[in-house]
Amino acid sequence: MKLSPRISHLLLAAIALAAPQAGCLDARALPELPQPVADESPSSLGLCEIELPSARPCPSDVGGRLLPPMQPLPEPPVDTEDCEAAVDPTRMPRNVIVLMGDGVGPVHWQAARILKDAPLAVDAMEGPVLYATDSADPGVVTDSAASASAMATGHCTYNGQLGTSAAGLSVPTALELAQQAGKRTGLVTNTFLTDASPMAFAGHVPSRSCQTQISEAALDARPDVWLGGAVPASLFEALGGLDERADAAGYQVVTHWPPPASIRNRSPLLGLFSTGPSPTAWPQWEYGLTPEALRAPDNEEPTLAEMTRLALSHLAGSNRGEGFFLFVENEHPDTIGHDAIANPPLAAALMGPVMLELDKAVALVLEWVEANASFDDTLVVVCADHENGGYTFEGDTADDLLKARFPASPSHTSARVPIYALGPGSERLADVEHLTDIFHLLTGNLQALPSAPGCD
Ligand SMILES: [Zn+2]
Repeated sequence: MKLSPRISHLLLAAIALAAPQAGCLDARALPELPQPVADESPSSLGLCEIELPSARPCPSDVGGRLLPPMQPLPEPPVDTEDCEAAVDPTRMPRNVIVLMGDGVGPVHWQAARILKDAPLAVDAMEGPVLYATDSADPGVVTDSAASASAMATGHCTYNGQLGTSAAGLSVPTALELAQQAGKRTGLVTNTFLTDASPMAFAGHVPSRSCQTQISEAALDARPDVWLGGAVPASLFEALGGLDERADAAGYQVVTHWPPPASIRNRSPLLGLFSTGPSPTAWPQWEYGLTPEALRAPDNEEPTLAEMTRLALSHLAGSNRGEGFFLFVENEHPDTIGHDAIANPPLAAALMGPVMLELDKAVALVLEWVEANASFDDTLVVVCADHENGGYTFEGDTADDLLKARFPASPSHTSARVPIYALGPGSERLADVEHLTDIFHLLTGNLQALPSAPGCD
């Protein structure tokens, strides 16, 4: 990525100011998890005609650090409405590619536009349409687990829960429906491998804190491609041996970039591209692949676009008959929004560049579809899970971006966020009113639009 000399200069200055500050991660520290109650309720197996593991019990294997506590389960709402219609996997487009910017509102995209000083790749798509992101928690802004679960399953749920309904039931995810339809599947993220957003598609776990259970659920789900970054120190013990377990499960495990040419397309692929919590140029945060704009020349981590290219190659390389489902997450905008309060200049300087990283991945995907498939059978969706930080700036120059403010940092906001799409179903984009509607778009169950009720 080419940055203007002024932005590069300010980035360096901001990095110099960004000495680790006590309390940065503590801002995310939340109360200890309550001892969970094992879910004794039946799964939605019979109702949804898809075989699912029941939601896993939730020992707090990371001590409640980093992650929100589970909400006490209220009276279960009716949980199965529209279930049969919603889970018909035969309606899913042949290929589905979802790119999600964590914490991205419309202003984030505008920052990328200003920095590029040209239309973005995403501007060639239908949209944007703005939609709501509320979870089942009354009066509380959604977290990334509930929001990703809503788009993965079409069900509203409580903050912290993954792949489960508000009643704690396992409900089918778009990835599982794709597998049921014979498609290959992939998950890509530039934060740690078991982050809530991709994992909402892979498993059914009552709390995002249950990292061991989440990694086991993901291996059980067996996506054909699972690529991501470092395991943070606080999770290392819980996830220790993930690479060995993946190897034992038949995965090809790759820990260095670029991957060896000997990768076999027919075997599942696990990419863990940074094995320790030590990216020194990313000082406020202890995990995740370093943003391209901060990388040292000898940094060998892949970019989001590079991982996306590998995933597309792997998924389409050997069997394109039934197509594939791919979910790609750019976590960096959310990370910046959470920690902007600790270093506003660094956050302001980084937001445009990390949004351009996302747009590079979008450009790569659109070019891949043009060259290898068509928008008659391939749906590309670019969306977000919620806004973060209340990111805002005045003006329309690169210098104005450096004065950006994050008045809501370190918290998510309830601002509506944008979705773009191209391909089958994108003609119904205007009917997307809530995160749960995205599930219906991804699975081709367009008859559920616009009647999906959101979380109210
Ligand atoms: Zn999020």
